[in-house]
Amino acid sequence: MTYELSSEHEAFRAVVRDFADKEIGPHAVHWDRDSVFPVETVLAMGELGLFGLVFPEEWGGSGGDFASLCVAIEEIGRVDQSMGITLSAGVGLGANPIFRFGNDDQKQRWLPDLVAGKALGAFGLTEPSGGSDAGAIETRARQQGDAWEISGTKAFITNSGTPITSVITVTALTPDGTSTFIIEAGSPGMLIEPAYRKLGWHASDTHGITLDDCRVPGANLLGQPGGGFRNFLSILDDGRIAISALALGCARACLEMSLDYAKERHAFGRPIGANQSIAFALADLAVAVENSRNLTYKAAWMKDHGRSFGHAAAMAKLYSTETAVNATRIATQVFGGAGFIEDSPVARFYRDAKILEIGEGTSEIQRLVLARGLGLPVQ
Ligand SMILES: Cc1cc2nc3c(=O)[nH]c(=O)nc-3n(C[C@H](O)[C@H](O)[C@H](O)COP(=O)(O)OP(=O)(O)OC[C@H]3O[C@@H](n4cnc5c(N)ncnc54)[C@H](O)[C@@H]3O)c2cc1C
Repeated sequence: MTYELSSEHEAFRAVVRDFADKEIGPHAVHWDRDSVFPVETVLAMGELGLFGLVFPEEWGGSGGDFASLCVAIEEIGRVDQSMGITLSAGVGLGANPIFRFGNDDQKQRWLPDLVAGKALGAFGLTEPSGGSDAGAIETRARQQGDAWEISGTKAFITNSGTPITSVITVTALTPDGTSTFIIEAGSPGMLIEPAYRKLGWHASDTHGITLDDCRVPGANLLGQPGGGFRNFLSILDDGRIAISALALGCARACLEMSLDYAKERHAFGRPIGANQSIAFALADLAVAVENSRNLTYKAAWMKDHGRSFGHAAAMAKLYSTETAVNATRIATQVFGGAGFIEDSPVARFYRDAKILEIGEGTSEIQRLVLARGLGLPVQ
């Protein structure tokens, strides 16, 4: 039994941390303030191999494990949650559905650029009619000869409108049930709406999408007709571990910044960290961060070792995201007025954290999954 990541994981962590500190950290304030999606930096993350970590070498990846991806997301998320979600969604929602459910032709066509981080993919599941209730989608696909015509509206789709977005995978109702289709960026009939103005994640790209008889070739059906519901549930299980890693990065950043500040900042002739109220809050936060770490990497380990990991992923996502939100609240309090000023990293993390409890399954949905897993007849 061991509670440590391998020395390879830790060496890799050092590489990503160095990249994050040099190439992302210094610019995060400006990207956040001006809502800039930094294409060149995302491409540089691709050159570092971050988008290909979990994919086999035959598709241009490095054949690593899911724990490595979590390390990368944690370290990027520690300096910038927007770039963390760009990576997490690019791998988990962009490339992964095509890798998991695509046929050879589809993989050959789209996977290499997604794996290399030269292109980004998006996954359009949520609609104005519902996100948690994903069975309530209204988007429909009608077969027209060898093609499909898709009509409907998707909401809040990450990475859907960047200059390097190549594909958007969407779910749609077909006679067999929910099916999944790959739509190439720029396809006639697909309108990428203007970017949302969001509370946080300002440097992450999020749009609504309107599909108006958007015609895609029959070859763009991903997986089996009617297999879309089962497929996206399993994609979300993976994604929950990744979001847990992103939340861990956020909570760690808050803890580290707060510890430094509590030692430096003086009030009443002593460091503010000499007050038990602050010291104990940070001691409790250190426990919560450690728990987040253990839950995140245990879920990743279970996935990497072929274990059933849905329950562990839901636990990790629930606990880590609620810890992250609490960590930003504590950090902002420790920083006092300075924590409330825009451009302070603490304020940015405070705004960025809330979505962690909502995206890829809200906290309530995680509790529902967990309660059902415990055998409770909860509705
Ligand atoms: C910035 C951002 C990026 C996103 N990226 C993507 C993306 O790339 N792809 C994508 O498909 N979606 C994406 N989403 C959508 C996100 O996954 C949904 O917002 C989320 O799943 C919640 O769905 P909803 O907004 O429709 O809320 P609702 O489902 O309407 O939920 C509203 C509230 O009701 C609660 N609730 C609902 N049902 C139950 C229940 N049975 N029991 C208890 N409480 C319940 C929810 O927990 C929540 O608190 C993104 C959202 C945002 C804001």
